Amino acid sequence: MGAFSAIEWCDHTANPWIGCQKVGPGCDHCYAEARDNRFEGGAHWGPGAPRRRTAPATRNAPLRWNRAAPAFHAGHGRWPRVFSGSLCDIFDNAVDPAWRKDHYQIVRETKNLRWILVTKRIGNAPAMLPEGWLDGGFDHVGIMITTVNQAEIDRDVPKLLDLPMTGNQWRGVSYEPALGPADFSRLKVVNRYGFGGSYDALRGLWRPGDDEGAAVAHPRATVLDWIVCGGESGDEARPMHPDWARAVRDQCAAAGTAFLFKQWGEWAPSTPEQAYANPRSGWRCFAGHPHVAKAHELYPENGAAFVERMGKKAAGRLLDGKLHHAFPRQLS
Ligand code: SF4
Repeated sequence: MGAFSAIEWCDHTANPWIGCQKVGPGCDHCYAEARDNRFEGGAHWGPGAPRRRTAPATRNAPLRWNRAAPAFHAGHGRWPRVFSGSLCDIFDNAVDPAWRKDHYQIVRETKNLRWILVTKRIGNAPAMLPEGWLDGGFDHVGIMITTVNQAEIDRDVPKLLDLPMTGNQWRGVSYEPALGPADFSRLKVVNRYGFGGSYDALRGLWRPGDDEGAAVAHPRATVLDWIVCGGESGDEARPMHPDWARAVRDQCAAAGTAFLFKQWGEWAPSTPEQAYANPRSGWRCFAGHPHVAKAHELYPENGAAFVERMGKKAAGRLLDGKLHHAFPRQLS
């Protein structure tokens, strides 16, 4: 958990405005929208809904965190990490560009902070990056996209890899809520001429066509620096197959990519006996488990596993008994 945030990989959250619009299945149970419904009548979500600019004191809070950062560094041995956009999307095209510009000015002035710009709209980024993005003034900033399955990874990771970056900036993916299996070492890529192949986004290697043979260095040669993985939380959370998390953990370990397992979410690996003994369990199994009487075929193609609805806190964040809490060097 962060120093001043309940989110495991950041210490602060910064929101220059509040409001957004759903853009994919990962948004289905958006906590920021639920919060807006609860406290602001849901006025700031959806097409045409006006985003609400936050108060100056909120927008300027990073200046205060920046002043306090040396003391933080003395105590923690690293600089504070800031999640930009927990209640909005920084590359939202429905906001006044002047709001984004003002936010970038705050980001630029706060070099003691380690900024994490999070987006589900990476396609908008090339036109919305700050002026001076590559001049050294934003070397304390990285970009993290959020994706939920292979189709989104194939679509969005190449856009992230194609963004211009200095040697000190970094690229990450939040694979949360994981809603399908993922292989970051084999992105299906088809160029504008219809020529396809797969791209290893962890090593910068390319395999032409359907060829299973030798991979070659790709001229792009940019790679992901960080992958965060997690299951969904909340009342309507969808289960994550445990093998999806294990696969991405193993991909990162093989390539030397920083991997952080954020949470199981509502559902976690269990046994039928344990689940049946828990009166609050909303147990469910993945197809094929030999000990389950009432099989629910949720992800039959992914094989046997059993998960139990036990709640985020009880589910925890150990993957096969181990904590995975790595960051790219720029955030360490
Ligand atoms: S992009 Fe993020 S903030 Fe916007 S609706 Fe989706 S989950 Fe919510």
